[in-house]
Amino acid sequence: VHIYRIENEYRKANTYIIDAGCEDVLLIDLGGPSLQSLLKWLDNHKKKVSALFLTHEHADHCIGLLESASLGSFNIYCTQYCGENLSNPRRNYSIYTSEIPNLDRVFEFEELSDGHKLLINGVTIEVLFTPGHSPGCACYMVNDTYVFTGDTLLSNKTLLNLPNSNRIDHKLSQDYLSSLLSETHLVFPGHGDSFYFSGFPR
Ligand SMILES: [Zn+2]
Repeated sequence: VHIYRIENEYRKANTYIIDAGCEDVLLIDLGGPSLQSLLKWLDNHKKKVSALFLTHEHADHCIGLLESASLGSFNIYCTQYCGENLSNPRRNYSIYTSEIPNLDRVFEFEELSDGHKLLINGVTIEVLFTPGHSPGCACYMVNDTYVFTGDTLLSNKTLLNLPNSNRIDHKLSQDYLSSLLSETHLVFPGHGDSFYFSGFPR
């Protein structure tokens, strides 16, 4: 598979495109607020989106949903907490900034469970629940090789100072991920460049 990154304007959150060579691609997160770069990529590559996996409910990773009609129809996969709070601007934090509109719309989503494995377009996606940074966090292991971590694992910092962050949960999630990952796993974080796993920043 090929993985492409789009760095979005709002908080430089990453949208990832997973292209397994068929007409449909998968997305991990949908930042924004504009989808111009993504739409341009899809047009250039003659691809369409069939599924979106959200790492968590924070608006920098989901605000592109407000423009999602321009992507056609696709399935949204996420944890229950994440999916329910796409319509709650206090929980997804969109209400606290004037840089983006409020994310307050109800979206239909497929609720994931921990350990759930999906096969879509020939791509295997394993769901790993990793609450801590927020209650709705999940990471996605793709083809046992690539791991999309959202804000749960960033290259140089741990983000646990938000109102709904939980340090104890995060520690458990950190142990969980550490038990599954080795230095051969390539990490695609919610912000910044990819890197090989080498533990969690302190
Ligand atoms: Zn976040």
